[in-house]
Amino acid sequence: MSSTVLVINSGSSSIKYQLIEPEQGIVVASGLVERIGEHTGRLRHTFEGVDTTLSEPFADHGVGLRRVLDLFTEVGPGLADAGIVAVGHRVVQGGSRYSGPALVDENVLADIEELIPLAPLHNRANLRGIEVARELLPDVPHVAVFDTAFFSDLPEAAATYALDREVAEKYRVRRYGAHGTSHQYVSRTAATIVGRPLEELRQVVLHLGNGASASAVSGGRALDTSMGMTPLEGLVMGTRTGDIDPAVIFHLARNGGFTIDEIDDLFNRRSGVKGLAGQNDMRELHELVAAGDPAARLALDVYSHRLRKYVGAYAAVLGGLDVVTFTAGIGENDDIVRAESMRGLEFLGIELDAERNAGRIKEPRVISTDSSRVTVLVVPTKEEQEIARQAVSLL
Ligand code: ADP
Repeated sequence: MSSTVLVINSGSSSIKYQLIEPEQGIVVASGLVERIGEHTGRLRHTFEGVDTTLSEPFADHGVGLRRVLDLFTEVGPGLADAGIVAVGHRVVQGGSRYSGPALVDENVLADIEELIPLAPLHNRANLRGIEVARELLPDVPHVAVFDTAFFSDLPEAAATYALDREVAEKYRVRRYGAHGTSHQYVSRTAATIVGRPLEELRQVVLHLGNGASASAVSGGRALDTSMGMTPLEGLVMGTRTGDIDPAVIFHLARNGGFTIDEIDDLFNRRSGVKGLAGQNDMRELHELVAAGDPAARLALDVYSHRLRKYVGAYAAVLGGLDVVTFTAGIGENDDIVRAESMRGLEFLGIELDAERNAGRIKEPRVISTDSSRVTVLVVPTKEEQEIARQAVSLL
């Protein structure tokens, strides 16, 4: 086996991992530890098409990762033979400090910790993942790849909120974006698919998963993105509001007696498609729409309207448009969302081809007509492979 990178995405109660050969982007093994800290945990490890599943409690991230490493030894691939040259860690919030991957040392760890207030759940979990992985795999370099890095040099005009400058500076309130690793990978891959240099393309990337974000990318540089200080801003998401008048918060607090924590929960976990239609999975939403459910119909309309609005806004930010690319769970699989969100954008030069757009799309594909001025693509995102690539490129 040639050299590999172990990519770790550590959540508050989970660890996702992939062992990747970065040159070809081959996933050698992958897995997921879930329900860490609960009475019953679960670990699924996949190697050579075979799933191995464990059901047992994992007291903490350290116990979970140790069991993962045991499984590598027991069912393969043996870590001694795997040629691991680095461990790549996904870190959600790198502030404005990190514009690329960073070799983990005490300073980087301190920075990630210091940024916890900007992404409380994520950075704390990411940090924990790095700490336990460094203990268990002390002989390889660990690299942090930040979700915000691609957006760290957004133009000031796009990154700045029109908020009192002193307050904004003191509390580091600005737009950091998220999903940057995906936007970077997808915009670079899109240039390859259309066969033109990245430097000359004006692109919009629509990353539509449970969380969703749009970016405007010109010549490979991000000029704007829809997520803000946190991943709450922007597009309508599975359970998040996306853009909303902040005065709704004052209204709910003053007139509805909501606490700040309740509003946080409402906006992040009980809104979006779920808040509008009762559940957040797009497949189920379409079933409800087909059955004539008016709330589901409205949810899909609000979702598509917001997307269309961002594409139009970003065409203006970019001064024109060459490529629009869909990615992530909904972007790759949901032809209805792709069709509805692009409807009415013919004036921008966007013409979808119904046949090319049909169905779930597993490999990069053009879904616009041959005469469409803007090329519309689906490019499945590969964040883990991008993390592996960046980790190796740093070393
Ligand atoms: P995340 O990584 O943000 O959790 P994903 O990128 O995996 O999310 O996307 C998950 C979402 O993708 C699901 O909530 C679902 O709405 C959507 N999805 C997955 N498969 C399909 C499908 N076949 N058709 C429509 N939507 C799908």
